[in-house]
Amino acid sequence: MRLSQRISNITGGGSDGWDVFYRARDMIEAGTPVIELTIGEHDIGTDPSVLEAMHKSATGGHTGYAVVPGEMALRKAVARRVEARTGVPTTADNVLITPGGQSALFTAHHAACDGGDTALYCDPYYATYPGTIRAVGANPKPIVTRPEDNFQPTAGQIGAEAEGARSLLINSPNNPTGVVYGPETMAAISNACISHGLWLISDEVYDTQVWEGDHISPRALPGMADRTLVVGSMSKSHAMTGSRVGWLVGPKEVIAAAIDLATHMTYGVPGYIQDAALFALNAGQDLETKISAPFQRRRLLAEQVLEGQNVVRPIRSSGAMYLMLDIRATGLSGEEFATCLLERHHIAVMPGESFGRAASGHIRVAMTVEDSVFEDALKKLVELAREFAA
Ligand code: PMP
Repeated sequence: MRLSQRISNITGGGSDGWDVFYRARDMIEAGTPVIELTIGEHDIGTDPSVLEAMHKSATGGHTGYAVVPGEMALRKAVARRVEARTGVPTTADNVLITPGGQSALFTAHHAACDGGDTALYCDPYYATYPGTIRAVGANPKPIVTRPEDNFQPTAGQIGAEAEGARSLLINSPNNPTGVVYGPETMAAISNACISHGLWLISDEVYDTQVWEGDHISPRALPGMADRTLVVGSMSKSHAMTGSRVGWLVGPKEVIAAAIDLATHMTYGVPGYIQDAALFALNAGQDLETKISAPFQRRRLLAEQVLEGQNVVRPIRSSGAMYLMLDIRATGLSGEEFATCLLERHHIAVMPGESFGRAASGHIRVAMTVEDSVFEDALKKLVELAREFAA
């Protein structure tokens, strides 16, 4: 039987750039220890207090169907959090609870785009972006940013691609670069969305991981609340990656339509997961800081290790749990360098090419192992780069 084109086309065919990652996993399976600096998974698990809340909820009987839009108490808590962080009046009607940010990304594109529409996204990009756009039947079109612009899209670049497009997907703080978009970039983005009639889909799942400056949510910019769909998640902020709980925030009419989609696809998020998420949000800033602190610390460690040499050049970044390193001085591609680092030192990083065209000749390092192991791995990485550069 023939599969639909829509589902067959999701990955777009070809290599998905995850070869190094899977090779590392094969090595581990075969008994070779590998230091994994690949995916965005915290080295601490979900906080025991959150697990306790989850357990208490489940054993207390909260295991039946949950209401599809999300428990009212959780929707209200998300609305309060968003309003407190952005100043934009937000109520439960502006919030849909989703099984993770990924589901919110899919829902947002489903709401914004018809089949065949052009949906813009910035390159380098988080791995699922083009596939998510194809999964709703739209056509992904990259805005290829440049290392010399610190991988932030410029007004000219957005303007050149925006004609005829329906939506623009951005991500700040950014995976894979760690860059936090400044006021100028956000103004360029919002101006382009208004003048070209675009929906803005703003993926803010790293909003608690900002090490310098401020996170700007573009929904708060003039004229943007009615056209911005914000993707949020408990995965990164509360180390709840496996719980699959996040949200979509947007205009009431969009959320009402998104609830219809959820009814026919996910049918909601388990009640005991939502109760754990509510507990975690109510735990406030202290828990968020506890979870983000290791990345801030390791970023400073990395600064020290990378100081005094210019073969491995860090991209100037101020957020998220990753470092993007420019290794073009080695003469190798990101993929070649990552493969060599894995073979020689059993250290796995992601080649920049995994994230699109813009980050070729770069590697992404996830700061997700214990400090001393991280420091040691970075030292070996620099040594290897120096060898090639010489
Ligand atoms: N957006 C970005 C930029 C991400 O890095 C991730 C996860 N790595 C997600 C969305 C999805 O996260 P989740 O579905 O776990 O909330």
